[in-house]
Amino acid sequence: MPINGSTKSPDVADFEIVTHSAEETILRGREIGARLKPPILILLSGELGAGKTTLTKGIVSGLGAAEEDQVTSPTFTLVHKYDGGAQVYHVDLYRVGDFQGLESLGLEDFFTEQAIVIVEWPENLTIRADWPVVRIRFEHVDEDTRRILIHDGSGVLGLSPNPAGDKLTAP
Ligand code: ADP
Ligand code: MG
Repeated sequence: MPINGSTKSPDVADFEIVTHSAEETILRGREIGARLKPPILILLSGELGAGKTTLTKGIVSGLGAAEEDQVTSPTFTLVHKYDGGAQVYHVDLYRVGDFQGLESLGLEDFFTEQAIVIVEWPENLTIRADWPVVRIRFEHVDEDTRRILIHDGSGVLGLSPNPAGDKLTAP
């Protein structure tokens, strides 16, 4: 498996990557980004400091939408948009409790566009989209080690045999 993870049986759509530095996580993110074709919704789960934004730096740079150091956390702005080539929305719903709801975020508008939408803290809102979804869960193993579990139910990363077209209700 070219993304340097291991396939967990029995579900062919699950992959695990272990990284030992932020740089390695960015590298893996780039490999993921290079495989993405819009529209795709990517849901990133895991505690604060788990590496969600770090992986996003790699994904955005792998897509060619921005340089990795241009990608910063949208914790306070909620959404950052990158559109050098691919159109990428990076959403952080950590503080979403402070807002009225989905309408105030304008999130729904994204789903009418040909975009890649990356969402941190997706469990804070109900997000619906008839798009293929990739779920990525981060486990903080130790200071510099992260376990990154990828569920690619639609096979959009080309890592599993079933084709795209899944419907999503998340979380
Ligand atoms: P989150 O967005 O999940 O809150 P961030 O990506 O902003 O987390 O922060 C992760 C922090 O952990 C950064 O300070 C990063 O340098 C550090 N770190 C250490 N090891 C790793 C690793 N293997 N992968 C990702 N980040 C790591
Ligand atoms: Mg973050």
